[in-house]
Amino acid sequence: MSKRDYYEVLGVSKSASKDEIKKAYRKLSKQYHPDINKEPGADEKFKEVKEAYEVLSDDQKKAHYDQFGHTDPNQGFGGGGFEGFGGFEDIFSTFFGGGGSRRRDPNAPRQGSDLQYTMTLSFEDAVFGKETEIEIPREETCETCNGTGAKSGTKPDTCGHCHGSGQINVEQNTPFGRIVNRRACHHCGGTGKQIKHKCSTCSGTGKVKKRRKISVKIPAGIDDGQQLRVTGQGEPGVNGGPSGDLYVVFHVRSHEFFERDGDDVYCEMPITFVQAALGDEVEVPTLYGKIKLKVPAGTQTGTKFRLKEKGIPNVRGYGKGDQHIIVRIVTPTKLSEKQKQLLHEFAEISGQAPQGEQEESFFNKVKRAFKGD
Ligand SMILES: [Zn+2]
Ligand SMILES: [Zn+2]
Repeated sequence: MSKRDYYEVLGVSKSASKDEIKKAYRKLSKQYHPDINKEPGADEKFKEVKEAYEVLSDDQKKAHYDQFGHTDPNQGFGGGGFEGFGGFEDIFSTFFGGGGSRRRDPNAPRQGSDLQYTMTLSFEDAVFGKETEIEIPREETCETCNGTGAKSGTKPDTCGHCHGSGQINVEQNTPFGRIVNRRACHHCGGTGKQIKHKCSTCSGTGKVKKRRKISVKIPAGIDDGQQLRVTGQGEPGVNGGPSGDLYVVFHVRSHEFFERDGDDVYCEMPITFVQAALGDEVEVPTLYGKIKLKVPAGTQTGTKFRLKEKGIPNVRGYGKGDQHIIVRIVTPTKLSEKQKQLLHEFAEISGQAPQGEQEESFFNKVKRAFKGD
């Protein structure tokens, strides 16, 4: 099979600019990257795209290719020579915001990092909300040096190695020639500054670790897994940039009696079969205290009662949920002789002798139904 034209591979015209070529390559290499695309042939496509880009992104090789095409015997870019992914990482990382080759002004204001804090709440605290204080360890601007890292009365100097840019060029020899990469300057850690007389409080970092108390207002109705953003309480910004935010993630403990579903709460109410049969007025716990509930005579197990607006306040303030009560009839155990006797009498009067005394037991009827005779 003859080799495809490199421009064709990248889907660009012969007059495409460097940027257009780069853009096309990024798009295609992402599309066919073996870590992403598992379709058969994607691997070959990926290599083809990579090969095309290696040539078209290099002025010298591009000129050569434009003149001689694939036929040039000196070119030496045969199929198979591209197994190694050297240099790919730098390009790949920029896809995901890694910023590998992006130029950054070290003196530009940057926002501080966001922080996350997990808070465990009791069921009731989540329902009613509360105001509380949390203590978080975070980096803060050093007050001694105002974040410059320099001893009072001195100023940081411009880094002599990167001349303040925070980045240096690193030349690399590759099979395709010399490649120049921009890296963070290791003399100044990418800050572009050098501090001769370091602030003794922060050892020149400009930051100190502090445990800070922050008051947090937990809204009523917050649910497990929800989070609250406390604006500006993350780590401090760099070069005068704004602080990050603090995210408080809530973990809500389960309740021994109530179960939550959205803004509604569910609970089971055990009653005796006598209460169920005769009806009764029973006390039921709600989130707002006990209330009396009328259980009508003849209530079956599984019957649901709804108490309107006895549920959980909506966290956005849209009213309240309901409480649902599910009746469970508890069969008595450990009966006394007297109780047993009364139940036997009850069964007799009702025409429901226990199974052993019946002409045909319910169990036999069921067996018969399954056999189909
Ligand atoms: Zn300091
Ligand atoms: Zn430097």
